[in-house]
Amino acid sequence: MISSKHLNELLGFKTPTPAVVSLYLDVDCQRAYRAQWRNLQARIPHSKDLDDDFARMDRFLEQDFDAGSFKGLALFSSKRFGLWRACPLPQAVVNRLSVDLKPYLKPLLSLTDQYHRFGVVMVEPKKARFLEVFMGQIREYEEMAIGLSGPLTPNLKVITEKLDGLTRNQGFQRVIVGAAADLAMTLVNHLHSSLQNNLILDSRLEPRMPVSKILETIVDSENAARKVRESVLVHHLLDSAAARMGVLGLEKTLAALQKGQVRLLLLRDGFTKMGRRCPACGLLSLGGLKYVKCHQATEAVFSLVGEMIQKALDLNCEIFRIFNDSPLDNLGRIGAELNAETHPAAQLILAQTTAQPALADSLCPAP
Ligand SMILES: [Zn+2]
Repeated sequence: MISSKHLNELLGFKTPTPAVVSLYLDVDCQRAYRAQWRNLQARIPHSKDLDDDFARMDRFLEQDFDAGSFKGLALFSSKRFGLWRACPLPQAVVNRLSVDLKPYLKPLLSLTDQYHRFGVVMVEPKKARFLEVFMGQIREYEEMAIGLSGPLTPNLKVITEKLDGLTRNQGFQRVIVGAAADLAMTLVNHLHSSLQNNLILDSRLEPRMPVSKILETIVDSENAARKVRESVLVHHLLDSAAARMGVLGLEKTLAALQKGQVRLLLLRDGFTKMGRRCPACGLLSLGGLKYVKCHQATEAVFSLVGEMIQKALDLNCEIFRIFNDSPLDNLGRIGAELNAETHPAAQLILAQTTAQPALADSLCPAP
């Protein structure tokens, strides 16, 4: 699991010469990702210094990695400077291999921003267990488990202190309590107020549940919450499109993206399309055009949608994959909300409402 400490390590990691290899792989396609990895390697010539890093990644993919239910994978390696981090991901990513002074983190951070880091405390009459759930993975802090005996109140004090410490150290954003109803309520009353504000009581979590079942239960709830969020985002996009603050469909979304107008890119998970690219200026197109402005023959792009996601990451746009059925399925499966600053229609609305900041703010509410 990627802990908040791991993320901070990656964010702060820097080498004096380009010695950090970052690899992103879409592993949602059976074993084809190994072939993708070989393709990426062939395209990136690297110095002998990095042979060990490439060999380590190769070994990891061949021997240690089991894609299981994961859809993406991020690997970061700098053997010379002591970095190795493997991050299996719950969503697909665009295949990419790069060598630089720092780990390439944009795709990873775009995903971590979408998930809560949950602390879990499971309390049964004889024992309290502590766990962490993040991005579809679970970790039990076995060394922190407490055997409970004697009167309840002193035990609850020990539990809340441990939970508070763990929450601070691991950066939990939500705490889930799994305990019998009466015990759960007593425990909640003993918790620090900062924890009480971010608390979830889940009656489906039974104290003696195996770790895999705890994970399944929490991921189920997360998926249900995500479904609601997706629906809100899609409907907001439709409203935005009606107000000319958003675009729907591949052609318009591509145009807005290439003009740097996109703030949030929404796309149906699994949506792919081939396209074309101008080798001179990098401009992407849906195809059909043999020549664009540069008077060069365009080249085929295997995954236009993947290129669009990469472009959106480069431009620091928010990217959100839609996993559930929604009206977007009948509207081109892709769309984008536009920046208030760059879109002409938006500038016009902003100009008209500068005297009313509250209205201007409401143009682009956070999703
Ligand atoms: Zn061009």
